[in-house]
Amino acid sequence: MVYTPSLMRKAMGYFNSFDLHLILADGRRLSFEKISQADAFLEDGDFVLDVKAGPVLALKLRRKDGLPFDIEKVDYDFDLPLKNFNRFLVPDCGRYYNRYFTPLLSWGRTISMIGGNHGNPFAAFMDHHDRIVLAIGIVGQLVEMGFTVTSPGRSLRNTLVVDRGRFRFQMNRPAGNFKLGRFTCFEEALFICENSPSWFHALHRYAEAYYQMYGSQFEILEEAFYPTWCSWVPWNSDDLNEAKILENARLAKEIGVRTIILDDGWYGPGCDSASLESNMGDYRPDVRKFPDLSGTAEKIRLLGMKSLLWVAPLAVSPEAECYQQVKGLLMEEKGRTWKSPSGFHDLCPCCPQARQLILDKIPELLAYGFDGLKVDLYNNIGSEPCTAGHNHDCTTTTQGVMRLMKEYWQRLKAIKPDALMESKNNYGNVYSAQFGSMIRGGDSPYDINNNFWNCIYPRAYSPVVHNDYLCWTSAESDHDLAILLIKQITAGVPTLSVDLAGVSESQRTVLKGWLGIYNRYLETFAKGNLEPQSGAMDVWDINGSETAIVSLLHNAKEFNWPAGKTQVLVMNGTDNHNIYTRIPETTAAVQVNLDCYLREVERTRVTLADTGTIHVPSAGLAIFDLRAESGDR
Ligand SMILES: [Zn+2]
Repeated sequence: MVYTPSLMRKAMGYFNSFDLHLILADGRRLSFEKISQADAFLEDGDFVLDVKAGPVLALKLRRKDGLPFDIEKVDYDFDLPLKNFNRFLVPDCGRYYNRYFTPLLSWGRTISMIGGNHGNPFAAFMDHHDRIVLAIGIVGQLVEMGFTVTSPGRSLRNTLVVDRGRFRFQMNRPAGNFKLGRFTCFEEALFICENSPSWFHALHRYAEAYYQMYGSQFEILEEAFYPTWCSWVPWNSDDLNEAKILENARLAKEIGVRTIILDDGWYGPGCDSASLESNMGDYRPDVRKFPDLSGTAEKIRLLGMKSLLWVAPLAVSPEAECYQQVKGLLMEEKGRTWKSPSGFHDLCPCCPQARQLILDKIPELLAYGFDGLKVDLYNNIGSEPCTAGHNHDCTTTTQGVMRLMKEYWQRLKAIKPDALMESKNNYGNVYSAQFGSMIRGGDSPYDINNNFWNCIYPRAYSPVVHNDYLCWTSAESDHDLAILLIKQITAGVPTLSVDLAGVSESQRTVLKGWLGIYNRYLETFAKGNLEPQSGAMDVWDINGSETAIVSLLHNAKEFNWPAGKTQVLVMNGTDNHNIYTRIPETTAAVQVNLDCYLREVERTRVTLADTGTIHVPSAGLAIFDLRAESGDR
């Protein structure tokens, strides 16, 4: 191992400068080195780079003669003193980053956002308390990306090599064989953050910078926050039918669910079917399962519930009736029609005629009477540029998906202005989060913590995030089911996917209790500001105007009391009954303790003092009323 320790730069901050390298289509390479956080005007041949310092570092590249030019690649190169970081946050769509928290997994490797990871060009490196040492984000169009750490790197013999104590990494855009495109003026900006209590805060600030530059507009519908039940997990979709949906809708309503999703398989064999024959892409109801699909939607509506219908707009099975008609619009990879591991092809999102075909299907889907669509599987897509002979108006697949998402949302809204639409981790990024009602965490059945990370990531930049659908068995205790629900409610909108007919009476009481609390405090959950109390992310605040909700997770033993609220709810997702709290001033309150079923077990007057301890049942809830403290009850 080669190791030469370097002198650490002191005081002024960790970040110093970066180099920007470009490869042009004519083979020329442009280099702009030592770009710091200051205004600069740099030249390389007949190109000029204008650097403007501000909340972000704005970069403008153009030719001196003003003519357009074609860029193949843009690389941002960083060279910093190496530190022992506690965690890494690699660029990602929010679905895989938690698998790369360990810095060592990045040494000498490229982590790619390609082939369905339509993620954010944002990376962060944390200190021993998971505060930000440095976070870097590129504010630019979303494309495939590579994040490569070259030091610590690997020798030709695959041995770890640290070059002179340096931490060197690159952000390469676009990754793989994609090319960036044609520009008259190439504009991007660099977000640089060296001081933030957590990566969640830094990602939030990056998103604010992104929205500032791109003028993103979110349409927030109250219905998007409704607890949701989905048909996906409980059965094989071969066994899906109207009776099962309606029975579950009735049971779901009783426990506080307000939206039903009819998932994959309503039109024929779903992705979970043992049958390899599929008609995915045709999207006409399977009358053996749903003799009258519009009638099913109407019956859900008459229950007073909202409904969503699943669709995978890009996917076309080889056996689908539409296959012959659309085969010229399918993606090709290296001259062969691309086929996913699940066995279906994709319409090419970079092809305007393919997108038009997809958009023209929306009226037919909405005509069944559902309140919106669950739009799925933009992530099952190839990682090579499409080689088909049809037209292309986007240069990379991610660009095509982004354009399709925008057009899909616009068309949906034009037909049904109050339509709901669910998108998912892999393609709900800082740019596209605005094209839909909510982003859902990627599939994490029976893995609540993975689901938690998948949801928390988009929560940093998107106002409505749905959990992946909670599923559990009778092996789960009532206490632990409550813990699962606390984690869900902290991360976003609670969602379920179990056959409720088989859920025990006591588990149903737990569900009804926690969904009841969620619905009762919906205003705070929906509009309150969510943030972790520290980089450890085991204590979360949801701060509304009058009410604050504190969520304690994993093994949290202490929290900071939310200041200036008349009501404070403490959800105890830990196994600790006595929680240490820091309170700025001694406060009297009435405390009501509820157990995991949300049944009142204790009502007391308490005096909350700094460095004191409060008692909250594990898997339960404490409600502190600070207004009632002076009055008699
Ligand atoms: Zn194509």
